[in-house]
Amino acid sequence: MSAVKGLRCRECQREYPQEPIHVCDYCFGPLEVVYDYDLIQRQVSRESIAAGPRSIWRYRPFLPLDGERVVDLGTGFTPLVHAENLGKLLGLDRLYIKNDCVNPTYSFKDRPVAVATSKALEFGFDTLACASTGNLAGSVAAHAAKAGMRAFVFIPDDLEQGKVVGAAVYGPNLVAVRGNYDDVNRLCSEVADKYGWAFVNINVRPYYTEGSKTLGFEVAEQLGWQAPDHLLAPIGSGGLLVKALKGLNELAKVGLIDAPKTRISGAQPAGCSTVVATWKSGGTTIEPVKPHTVAKSLAMGNPADGYYALRAIQETGGDADDANDPEIIEAMQLLAQTEGIFAETAGGVTIAALKKLAARGVFRRDEVVVALITGNGLKTQEALTGHLAPAIPVTASLRAFEAALAELPERRPGATAPREERQWPASASNSPTLQTSSRSR
Ligand SMILES: *Cc1c(COP(=O)(O)O)cnc(C)c1O
Ligand SMILES: [Zn+2]
Repeated sequence: MSAVKGLRCRECQREYPQEPIHVCDYCFGPLEVVYDYDLIQRQVSRESIAAGPRSIWRYRPFLPLDGERVVDLGTGFTPLVHAENLGKLLGLDRLYIKNDCVNPTYSFKDRPVAVATSKALEFGFDTLACASTGNLAGSVAAHAAKAGMRAFVFIPDDLEQGKVVGAAVYGPNLVAVRGNYDDVNRLCSEVADKYGWAFVNINVRPYYTEGSKTLGFEVAEQLGWQAPDHLLAPIGSGGLLVKALKGLNELAKVGLIDAPKTRISGAQPAGCSTVVATWKSGGTTIEPVKPHTVAKSLAMGNPADGYYALRAIQETGGDADDANDPEIIEAMQLLAQTEGIFAETAGGVTIAALKKLAARGVFRRDEVVVALITGNGLKTQEALTGHLAPAIPVTASLRAFEAALAELPERRPGATAPREERQWPASASNSPTLQTSSRSR
């Protein structure tokens, strides 16, 4: 039995039945799914969840689905890694990386899309669609393929090759719009009004964003049923940040964890700093911008949930920072070379912001800090072009190899830069060697 009671406007609290609608008729506020938490509490325990599938479906009583059928690619239950090397550099003993690079289509978007696709089938839609900054396109196309639905995915025409191929391979109708994401989104709102399609992040958005709660659920379960002290999330639309926190709060509501005291912080590209700029200025109004950033997956100039993300940061005592393109690219290498995790540009934004927050003393050394790393680096390889050490060319002889070896600058295993190029603060003593700039040879 589903615990969904219906939809409710986040602004004026008017209630609506469960339908494929997303804005309030009266005040144009966004609609959100409302649950009967007493019913959920009777349906779940730590044990029942632990006995469930190793995917987001272990949290199904918290998801807005009534039907039997879910569209399952095996999303979720991704690794929560104790980032000891990176933590040492930043002065954090209990830093964790939630590695969502390893979802079925290589980003966290599989979480909301799995829920939205299952809900679209319940509603009887035959066509799945989205306005995407890249990762959503791949996830929607893959879920439509699995569900046997037709797919229309709309992308800006300047996306990375890995995102284009990573969507096209599933056989959707891939529409490349001349313009940026905000242009794509505007077009899609018109298409959604005219055609009876399930746009996961437009008319099905209230159900879609609920899928991102599973990040909060998983982090708490993987920490041994406790909320982290600090959670750091990248901000595109802001949906992920808001819903990860909602996930933690819901676990407390049904008695699975203590009331979270989690502070939540946000990370954005400097070239698309809507929420973070407002946070820094102490204001409350988010001004739309025209994005210019290498982190295309976060390039939303008018974030749908930006206001709610800002409020979550303020209300939990969190913080926020942004990162420019060189900082993003450096942070991608830093994460890869300390923790062995190859994240896309959005991950670079998160790690660059983490570094800044740590340097500003936002975290205590012994706090549990979790950084959400949301997409896979193989999709944004262009960003690293010219920034990595080239391969060492040799002929197939031991003599040639040893001649090349003698030419190499001094280094330790796993490192690709000479010692004097390291740019780390005093707290980094005892730390592994790092490359933070390209090698000079
Ligand atoms: C979409 C996306 C985000 C941002 O998620 P929102 O819910 O839009 O804030 C973060 N990281 C990656 C890799 C994404 O694709
Ligand atoms: Zn309203």
